[in-house]
Amino acid sequence: MTKNGAVGAFIHPEDERTRRQLEAIPGFSAVVKAFLRVGLERIVHGVSMAEKIRLGPDQLPDLYHRIKPVCARLDITEPEFYLEMNPAPNAYTTGDTRTFLTITSGLVEYLDSDELNAVLAHECGHIACRHVLYHTMAALLLQGSMFSAFTAPFTKPMQLALLYWQRRSELSADRAAAAALGSGGPVVETMIRLSGGPKSVTGAVNIDAYAAQADAYDEMLASTWDSLLQGMAVMNHSHPFAAVRVREIRHWAAGDKFNRLCHALAKNERQRRCPACGVFSEPTWKFCRECGAQLPERKEIL
Ligand SMILES: [Zn+2]
Ligand SMILES: [Zn+2]
Repeated sequence: MTKNGAVGAFIHPEDERTRRQLEAIPGFSAVVKAFLRVGLERIVHGVSMAEKIRLGPDQLPDLYHRIKPVCARLDITEPEFYLEMNPAPNAYTTGDTRTFLTITSGLVEYLDSDELNAVLAHECGHIACRHVLYHTMAALLLQGSMFSAFTAPFTKPMQLALLYWQRRSELSADRAAAAALGSGGPVVETMIRLSGGPKSVTGAVNIDAYAAQADAYDEMLASTWDSLLQGMAVMNHSHPFAAVRVREIRHWAAGDKFNRLCHALAKNERQRRCPACGVFSEPTWKFCRECGAQLPERKEIL
């Protein structure tokens, strides 16, 4: 399998299915083209990227260097990486041909090192799965009226369809994160922190009981009326409920296929290091920008 095959190994089938439905909506491709024509990245820069700290080798390198191994494992080009002052723990990725990953100061303060890496791997998973264009569209449509000239006839149904797909896309990014980290554990721990509070409060949470909440939730959905009410409750959410994510990722990370994928992605990471100096390269580089050594031909990993 090729690089795309690796992504195919962690795309959630519900993500795949709902994305096809989304793309079949009349007018969808016209709206996408309109976003691209006006210059999506410029909008992203204008709306979202002002007044943040861009992380780099000379700017908070301890944070910056965390994304390199993850990008190498998932075989993606490194996104521009920003820190935003916001006490709420959050991370998001926007853009299209250029991608911008932002983490908040609250996230860095709130999570421990493994949990922070899990969030970064989740965001990089969205880039690997090519989710970011549609996520950005969903976010901009939610901001409303300023794009109404393009989207007026479609805005609400398009928004809801995008969010419906986005909730499924989150499951693929969780899988990518677990595969990149070699374990579902940090993804589960992160969900528990974001659902119930900091480690000092939730460190002793019974994870089996927590995951069982998702089963109880599904049983409730067997009733048509409850299913309708819950559909309305979740309609404007961009993410599935945390207990559902925990159950999904634990189940997926328990299989043999998961171990094989982890080994394959670790190979990706080794291939991205310069054999002479060990510095990470980008997928398009022929020579190491650190030491000038010629980089070996990259091999397909799965
Ligand atoms: Zn996500
Ligand atoms: Zn080198």
